[in-house]
Amino acid sequence: MPELPEVETVVRQLGGVLPGLGISDVEVLHADLLHEPAISFRKGLRGSQVTSVGRRGKNILIRLSSEGILVINLGMTGQLLFFRKEAEADRVTHPAIRFPLDPSGTLLYADIRRFGTLRRYTAEEWEMESSRLGPEPLSPELTSSMLFDGLSRSRSPIRSWLLDQRKIAGIGNIYAVEALFRAGIHPQRAANSIDEAASKGLLSAIQTVLREAIRARGTTLRDYRTVEGEQGGFAPSLLAYGREDQPCTRCNTSIRRIVFGNRSAFLCPHCQPSE
Ligand SMILES: [Zn+2]
Repeated sequence: MPELPEVETVVRQLGGVLPGLGISDVEVLHADLLHEPAISFRKGLRGSQVTSVGRRGKNILIRLSSEGILVINLGMTGQLLFFRKEAEADRVTHPAIRFPLDPSGTLLYADIRRFGTLRRYTAEEWEMESSRLGPEPLSPELTSSMLFDGLSRSRSPIRSWLLDQRKIAGIGNIYAVEALFRAGIHPQRAANSIDEAASKGLLSAIQTVLREAIRARGTTLRDYRTVEGEQGGFAPSLLAYGREDQPCTRCNTSIRRIVFGNRSAFLCPHCQPSE
């Protein structure tokens, strides 16, 4: 599932190609991804120009000359691909929404499982929606004392707390598991059991792993692709996620997989004690 580093990669790449291009048409192949009828979605976007591309949490924000914002969430298996030549887009499997661009190029949203969403907002509507999300983990706006304060108010397992987009925006299971491994914190520990020093270490681990993953253009386990259709390069750098029964890189103890909150977590029982 695409998380902050994957979405940031897509946003940076699109930011280099989309601004200044016009949306000449919108071809909706799967209207279930939209929150409005295909006809009004098309009418609302056709003829507008892209002014900038940004990110908030796991959302891709395409700002338009009409002052509206197209917000794309990749869900589980969404891919946002850019093609300079229109014919190249024809080769993509599972296309869902196609945007022919003016004067040339095609932006294509493809999605095998179709848990993604594409939604139009006015600037005011988006501001409201965005205010429901927690702070950006890479922004100086999030300090370790804020994180400690937030954690101290919750008895949830720390991994669940990190996945809650209202607490921090952009972290999903892969980077939560990796950050907890790097910080030496058991994923099931109660958020409010984590002291100030450990909160500081956790924030630093979150920021380090996110930055490293952005540099590698994200993690591809299966479906995630960059805008150019390439896989992200961070998977070999995962130290805990998906490494069940492999030796911990720090102490050689076998990495364990546990399941709670319906999701797998991976941990080193020696480096991440439960108390
Ligand atoms: Zn270990």
